[in-house]
Amino acid sequence: YQGKRGAEDIVVFAGGAAGHPHQWLKVQAELRHALERDELVLWYQPKVGLPGAGINGVEALVRWQHPERGLLPPCEFLPAAEHSGLIAPLTEWVLRRALIDQAGWTATGQDWTLSVNVSARNLDAPGFVGYVTALLAETGARPDRLMLEVTETALAGDADNAVRAVKELGALGVGISVDDFGTGYTSLSHLRGLPISEIKIDRAFVADVDADPQSQAIVRSVIELAHGLGSRVTAEGVETVEIHRWLVDAGCDEAQGYLYGRPVPWPQVAVEPIAEPIT
Ligand code: C2E
Ligand code: CA
Ligand code: CA
Ligand code: CA
Repeated sequence: YQGKRGAEDIVVFAGGAAGHPHQWLKVQAELRHALERDELVLWYQPKVGLPGAGINGVEALVRWQHPERGLLPPCEFLPAAEHSGLIAPLTEWVLRRALIDQAGWTATGQDWTLSVNVSARNLDAPGFVGYVTALLAETGARPDRLMLEVTETALAGDADNAVRAVKELGALGVGISVDDFGTGYTSLSHLRGLPISEIKIDRAFVADVDADPQSQAIVRSVIELAHGLGSRVTAEGVETVEIHRWLVDAGCDEAQGYLYGRPVPWPQVAVEPIAEPIT
């Protein structure tokens, strides 16, 4: 399938704040080759259950093993993919690779759910749900072990196609997670009636939640809201034991962050034991 807009709008985009048009076109051309040559890799970050901090699942995070520039983070190439038709084949590659990896860890006895990031454009494209359906059938993966992370802005406004896609994916049994929650300034009413299994609180609110009363108020109300909607709530970007403890006390269901584990290739996924601070 293809995104709604084509490669032509890359020039328009590149003329704005993003820098030199030839840079964007270069990244786009190289990325096309990268997909053909299998230069992308997936690393996985553990998602832990609270309070125990055992691994419930992992989130796939894409990187590009660039032949000259080394291992590139997603911020170096996702914008170019988003603003061309390449986000469609990129997400297809990620989903396929991730489901193959999941079969690998399932074979070693790990029952981790798999979370995959999906862009607004993917949800908007007509063939996306069909692609996921066919891929699940082909790989034999269980829909309820797959979670797709979408941002709240992807579901806001008149995103009719995205809303329909999310409902269809939910009906398949695939989990839907609302990523970066709290950063989108969208009305909560947009989430009503959608099959949301998880809300992920953005790192911006988690980073100082053990110390800042406003972040505390926001995180508490997101937890209450998520539970009220029947969703689980995950805090991202947890870096300290103090924040971990605060989240446990507040009733947060799951957490992710450098405290527990950084993204790594799946055979290396493990969680650090949480060291108790000296009091
Ligand atoms: P995200 O989905 O919000 O993913 C979390 C990002 O925060 C990851 O960065 C992760 O490495 C980082 N992170 C995790 N724990 C901590 C922590 O404790 N502290 C700090 N400072 N950072 C932490 P990464 O891998 O660079 O990914 C950045 C973004 O790129 C992701 O944000 C996601 O929006 C996007 N992305 C990554 N992989 C994919 C993909 O396969 N498809 C799509 N469409 N987007 C992706
Ligand atoms: Ca995510
Ligand atoms: Ca996030
Ligand atoms: Ca984020």
